[in-house]
Amino acid sequence: MPIYEYKCNECEAVFEEIQKFSDAPIDICRHCNSTEVEKLISQSSFVLKGGGWYADGYTKDKKKKESTAAPSKPDCSNCPSASSDN
Ligand SMILES: [Zn+2]
Repeated sequence: MPIYEYKCNECEAVFEEIQKFSDAPIDICRHCNSTEVEKLISQSSFVLKGGGWYADGYTKDKKKKESTAAPSKPDCSNCPSASSDN
């Protein structure tokens, strides 16, 4: 679940809330109950979590591509340079 950071413009307090995407944003300060609260984007937690599932999806996509595309290794059993070298 994403962590949202909020800053109160009344008492300058910054606090974090773990919320679902569907949850309504916090608009009341936990410290002074002011409604002068603005939402901050918590970059650090977003990068970590976002990177995780992005990398996983990328790996699956890469494996899928590799399995469908046949490895084009040239058949060099009759190639003179390959047989004479070994
Ligand atoms: Zn406050």
